[in-house]
Amino acid sequence: MRTRFDFKPIPASIIAEQWYCEKAVDLSFRYPNIVFPSEEMSFGTIGHEVAFSEAEVLTEQEIKILIKSGKAISLAETPFSGTFQGLAIKGYPDYVEFRQGKALLLLDFKFSRYRRVFPSQRIQVDIYGYLLNKNHLDTEGLICGIMVMSPEFSVVDQTDLIASEARKLASKLRRENWERVDLQGDPDLYGELYPFSLNSAKKNLSWAMGYWAKKRAPRPTTRAYKCKACSFNAAGKCRAALTAPKKNR
Ligand code: SF4
Repeated sequence: MRTRFDFKPIPASIIAEQWYCEKAVDLSFRYPNIVFPSEEMSFGTIGHEVAFSEAEVLTEQEIKILIKSGKAISLAETPFSGTFQGLAIKGYPDYVEFRQGKALLLLDFKFSRYRRVFPSQRIQVDIYGYLLNKNHLDTEGLICGIMVMSPEFSVVDQTDLIASEARKLASKLRRENWERVDLQGDPDLYGELYPFSLNSAKKNLSWAMGYWAKKRAPRPTTRAYKCKACSFNAAGKCRAALTAPKKNR
């Protein structure tokens, strides 16, 4: 099936941005030169490079054999692809832990000064969960987590430490049958963990793919503060803007 802009596979990270403003996603394809990376984005790039610089590179076949063997393994930034309603999608989960052939922990690392998790970040992780399931991996009992670190953390590899904290909380969450648990108490680290729901991932993908399959026009945000800070608005490219752009950007 043909997608908007003939763009495929569609990355999970771009699908997630539709929850920030779908109109902005659409404009980013029409005006690819309008990019204003944030401080968090720059730190994020450094952080991911540092975190995974020590990881061993494995082939797809080696990964399959290791998972099947039941050994405890963790994968970093490993590509997973699949389709949803005939459209190709792809994702690179930051961290997936397998034990006894099951995907048990799926984490995404963010570098930000905000001590909170945004809906788009949860949706991105849920799409990764969908892709694991689509690749015939056992996601029954999978716990998803978004770990938000201060940007200063980006220069030191904290993956093992954070994964260990997340693992403890994930066990507690399973034991107590909770819907969500937050990682708090450290001023430089905040996290949210919750059980993966395949139904919820599919529901969100179904909405998102309506845009990519050209079944509907891109939806603009309903939040004026986003338009105020939007670079497409500042460049006079968005007719759906709810307010004037901020001056002196
Ligand atoms: S101005 Fe508002 S509606 Fe338009 S792209 Fe930017 S955030 Fe979205």
